[in-house]
This record gives sequence, C-alpha cells and structure tokens, in this order.
Amino acid sequence: MAEQVTRSICRFCNSRCGLLVTSEDGQLVRIEEDRKDPRVDMIFPPTKACVRLPAAKEYVYHPERVRFPLKRKGEKGENKWETISWPQALDEIAAKLGELVHKYGPESLAATGGTGRTILWPYKRFMNLLGSPNIVAQAMICFAPAHAPAAAMIGWPLRHRGHVRVQTGADGRPVTKCVLILGMDPSQARLRFWKSLRETKKRGGTKIIVVDPRRTQTAELADLWLQIRPGTDTALLLSMINVVIQEALYDAEFVNNWCYGFDPLKERVKDYTPEKAAEITWVPAEKIREAARIYATERPGISVHGMGTEHLENSQDAIQARIILAALVNNIDVYGGDGICGPSPCISEVEMELGRLLSPEQRSKQIGADRFKLLSWPGRELIWEQNRKYWGSECLTYALSHGPSLMRAILTGQPYSVRAVITQNSNPLVTFPNIKLVYKALKSLDLYVVKDFWLTPSAQLADYVLPTACWLERPELIGGQGLDNRIIGGEAALPAKVPGLHEHWTDYEFFRELGLRMGQSEEYWPWQTLEEAFDYQLAPLGLTFKQFMVQENGVHTIAKDEYEKHTKRGGFGTPTGKLELSSTILEKLGYDPLPRYVEPHEDPLSSPDLCKEYPLMLITGGRFIPYFHSEHRQIPSIRKRYPDPKVQIHPDTANELGIQDGDWVWIEGLRGRVRQRAELFDGIYPQVVHAQHGWWFPERPGEEPWLAGVWESNIDVLTDDDPDHCNTRSGGWPLKTALCKVYKCKEVF
Ligand code: SF4
Repeated sequence: MAEQVTRSICRFCNSRCGLLVTSEDGQLVRIEEDRKDPRVDMIFPPTKACVRLPAAKEYVYHPERVRFPLKRKGEKGENKWETISWPQALDEIAAKLGELVHKYGPESLAATGGTGRTILWPYKRFMNLLGSPNIVAQAMICFAPAHAPAAAMIGWPLRHRGHVRVQTGADGRPVTKCVLILGMDPSQARLRFWKSLRETKKRGGTKIIVVDPRRTQTAELADLWLQIRPGTDTALLLSMINVVIQEALYDAEFVNNWCYGFDPLKERVKDYTPEKAAEITWVPAEKIREAARIYATERPGISVHGMGTEHLENSQDAIQARIILAALVNNIDVYGGDGICGPSPCISEVEMELGRLLSPEQRSKQIGADRFKLLSWPGRELIWEQNRKYWGSECLTYALSHGPSLMRAILTGQPYSVRAVITQNSNPLVTFPNIKLVYKALKSLDLYVVKDFWLTPSAQLADYVLPTACWLERPELIGGQGLDNRIIGGEAALPAKVPGLHEHWTDYEFFRELGLRMGQSEEYWPWQTLEEAFDYQLAPLGLTFKQFMVQENGVHTIAKDEYEKHTKRGGFGTPTGKLELSSTILEKLGYDPLPRYVEPHEDPLSSPDLCKEYPLMLITGGRFIPYFHSEHRQIPSIRKRYPDPKVQIHPDTANELGIQDGDWVWIEGLRGRVRQRAELFDGIYPQVVHAQHGWWFPERPGEEPWLAGVWESNIDVLTDDDPDHCNTRSGGWPLKTALCKVYKCKEVF
C-alpha cells in the first residue's frame, strides 16, 4: 500500500505543533514539520529539534500501553487484571454507576481531568447531562486562575499565555516595548514565546523584566531580573502599582474615563512602598522602582504570568494586581499590548460542555463552591451574565469542584457521599497535592474508572482501566476558546482500533456510549464520531471538518485583531461598564474587591517554630524539558536523556549540609519525605530549594507497596492541600510555598 500523509496536531506538550505524519498500512513511518502551518517558524527549537517528537514510535507502539479494557481481578492495588471487551466494560460501569446514582444522587460521581492531552469537553458534557457538578481538574491551579479575574475585571479573559508574542510592525520594528514575565520560564514551557523573546533581545527596542525566584534561562535573557522570595508576588506588584500612582506614571485619561475603583485602589496600595515590599519580597526597593518605571513608560507592553504565580496561596490577588498594573498604564486591548480576542466564530468547547443544562439545584451542590466561588458555579454565573449582555456568548471560565475538599468528602461522606470517580487521562496520585490523602480517598471508592494510555499509579487503584486513543490516533479541533485568534485542527493519522492488537477509544466515544447506557438522550449525543462533532462546531464557518483540513490546511485565522473595543462599544463588558480595578463581581461573591498581600502559611515569617525543624523554603513544579508533567517516564530514549529527578539547591547550602552535586538527598516536610538528586545551582537563594514534580517510575512493580514508584520521588507527597491554606477565592492549592529540610541519603539506590 502507498504511503499516506496526514496533517496532525502534536499533543506531547502544549505547543501543539502542526505536523505531517506519514504512515503505511496504518503503521507510523515518519513525522515532519508541516511547513504550511503558519505557526511553523514561531517555535524554538524548531519542531524538528524537539526531543519528544522523535520518540513518537516508542510511545505509540510501547508494549506497556493499555490496549484493551481491563477489569480488576484481585484487591485494589494488586495489579491483577482481566482483559474484557468494551461492551462488557461499559455495561458493568453503567450498571454500577446507576446503582450509586440511585442511592446517593448524581453528585456522588466525580470526574478528574488534567492538562489537555485529549479533548476535554466530552467528559464535562457527560457530567452535566448526568447532573453532577463535581468535576475537579488541574485547571484550578493551571490556566483557569488567569481567566476568571480578567473576565470579572475586563469582561473577557486576556489572550492565553500560550499565544502571547512580542509584537513587531510591518517594518520589523518592535511595537511591544516592554515584556513583564512573572513566575514563568518560556524556555521550558512556552517555546513559541521563547523564540519571540530571543528575537526581541537580538533586535533590541523592547525591555524584558522577569520576576522569578530562580535564575532561569528567561531570567538570564532579561534586562531586569527581580529575584523574588517565593510566595510574595502580590506584595511586589502592589508596590509597583504604588510607584506608578505615586509618580503619576499612569494613563490618567484612560483611568478617569474607562476604569472603576481608582480611589480605593490608591488607598489600598499606599502602604506598599518599595521599602516595605523589599522587606517582604527580598527584591531591593530600587529594583522595584526601576521595574515599575520601565513598565509604565515603555509602552505598549505585555505582562504574562505562569504557574509560578498560579500556584501561590495568594495567587488570585497577584493576578488581579498584574491586571490592575496593565490597566493603569493602558496596556490592555491595545496594539502591542495584552490582547482580548473576543468570542470564537465556531461553536466553542465551553458550549459543547452543555453546562447550561446543569440545574441550579445541582450547581448548588458543587463541593467547595460555597467557599471557593470564583472558579466554581457562583463565579461563572456572574461572569457569564455579563458576557451574554456584552458579547452575546460566554467566555471560557471554569466551574470546578474543589479537589482537596472533594478528596475529604470521599473520605468523610461530608457534605454528602461521593462514591465514584472517573479519571480522564490524568494522574491524581502523582499530580494532586498531599497524595497520601489522595491515595486513601481513591482506594476507598466504590467505583474508580481510569481512562488512560498507561497503567499509571492512579490506574493501579482502579476497578476498570480503559485504553485511550493518543493524538496520532484521533482527530483534533482546538477552537481558540476566545483566547487566541486561531482555530487549529488535525486528522487521525493512525488507526485507533486494530482487531486483535488494540482498541483505543476517544473520550468522545466512551462518554457517548456510557451516557446512552445511563439513559442520556441521543438528542444530546447526536454525532456518532468525534469528526461529526467537529463538523457541528465548524458549521458557523460554513465548513465541514474535512473541508477545514483541506481548504484551510487545518489552521483558520479568525478575523483581524481589533483594538480598544471599549471605545467602539461604549465601555467594557463588566457590571459597571468600566474596566474594574476594584471588582464588583468579587465583591458580590463576598470577597475583597481589591488585591491584598497575605503571608503564606508555611513560611519562615508566618511559621518561625516550624522553620526551626524545616528551615528551607520548598518550591515545586518548574517546567523542565524533556518531560511534560508526569508523562514520558516510560519512553526509553527520553528517560535515557533524563533518568532521575532533580532538586536544585544553592552550593553554599549544599556545602553546609555535606551534599555534593548528583547526590541522592531526602527532601522532608510536614507531610512526608521523598528523594531526588541534588543539582547545585547558584541561581537560587540559599534558603530556597526547587524540586521537580511529576515523578513516578513505570519500571517499578505496579502493585502495592510500589505503585510504580509513586512514593519515591513524587514531590506531591510533601505539598499542602489543606483547604484553609488554599486561595480563598479560587481554591488553588499552594505548590510554591512549603517548608522542608534536605539531607543526604545514607541508603544506596
Ligand atoms: S512535543 Fe515537540 S513537536 Fe510536540 S507539540 Fe511539543 S514542541 Fe511541538
């Protein structure tokens, strides 16, 4: 048979590169960059130098991939499985779920999802149709925290960080004059943005300011690096706002005409002098002033934050302060500044979720929503009400159940019984905080179903494990979500089902079949395949999915960017019609409408006694290539390149502790200890260590006590999930502030 070339989208990381996949008789032959993808030259290193992509064959044909539905044979965690058919798996799961729903109500089922390695709307559609509000997701600490405050304050989220670029004019000269980056290392996490920054640096004319406790590659590239004490971003930003107001560097005309809440803001920041902020943040006062002056005068500028900011106890205040700073100098929705894209012209993923069908009664049962209101139904309802009036459609903002509270509900039956969980291509036992508690919760369930590519540590606790089609085996459509001006698509390059070899199902197929078995109407699952669903989503463009892939080469650029939309529309899509520096939506939810700095709970200043036992500040979760979160540890070529987990520690601290570069060390905190290899690094404060996240060891036995090495180096053994320590508005848990001690392992590994 002749070779076949398919245009696909890679989902091994969030860069989502466009690729040409060559196959023959359904077998993968090679993968190349798609030179017709207009995004092809926007990435560094280019796709062809990517370290993950060459491992695609190892991934697809890996002997350890889950190929058929598996049913637990022994006790939970014994790693004993029976292969069953899809119809049997679906019938049994539907029957058991039906019993639980009958006994405890639909809210007794929760679902967990992770970073978008598959398409996320089908599981949310299923849950909404079932009547369960209990969707928990890593989005609560990644991605979602950025959108809700912006949507509340501006009326629509800002352009997503994955699509942010330094803008240049037709003459190649910089339009963007300043870039402020907080808690993010694009060299590891956002490769297109990284390329844009490198080019900016070469070209000149744009100032780069980086706020990060570590000297990352991005910090090295910056004109100004503010080495911040972990957890104190809000104090720094409030102080920058103080300088901008005190020195009258703000755009008075924009603020007077288009902003709401300037006077209370002025009052709030008056105490955050650079001198005071310097004590809190460890950033010298003069550097804070310099950063504020550069950002306010080199306009237009962009500001972007990463998970370093989203993982803070004080995350929402920091993000709100970042938006306020941008608004004061009129950097929002201007050419070369922070963009607002507005609704996507196709049917959005949010619409596909059918959240509107979840009744008010069921919404009100969402676990954690009475306390953490911004990223759950109460916040979404207030934001959507404004969206509908102003834009005529709803933006991407989340309605999530609170993960740590949900784990407690599973264990205690309070506020009600949660007895079943479906995990969709995520790995809560590796990526949730405080995994000892997560372990107990998952193990206690009446029904735990995991749909994944691999037998992960989480899957080892399941009753059923179901095989998932990877990106090469399924079509893809990413509709922009109103956060980018592009819609991108890719076709399935390889067969997901090969009789006798494997039966990988898309999530759409699984949730449709389960939904129908649970009595959900075919009216809500009208499409037999994912491609047919994409036809529906693309119908407003007058294209089918196939036509989209041929006529548009799989990339559709939404109408040219428009700027300063408030001037044409008579205001912003907020309750006051103004850009709200002081948020009336936050106020209505019962929160402080302005940002405020609060000292983290586990920190030398707030917990001096604890600090005697655990003297080091632990930050976790900085991105590192070649891995993508907890993925790819079982891929030989990737693992060979990066075999062990690493903890960065300052050489002076290491010297005091008798630790040498490469030594295995224990990192111990209040909740337990794990080991990683020491990496001596002088780009971190001596009082701070940074431990990698996402580590498990697929080569270890799957059964207990090993659970594929989940307890060995997984830093989420140490992280805090106490709801009292989560962000008061969003519920996000603190991954960047904990106390620990580090000491050399005496054992040999
Ligand atoms: S893994 Fe590589 S090819 Fe795939 S999306 Fe990421 S950068 Fe692109």
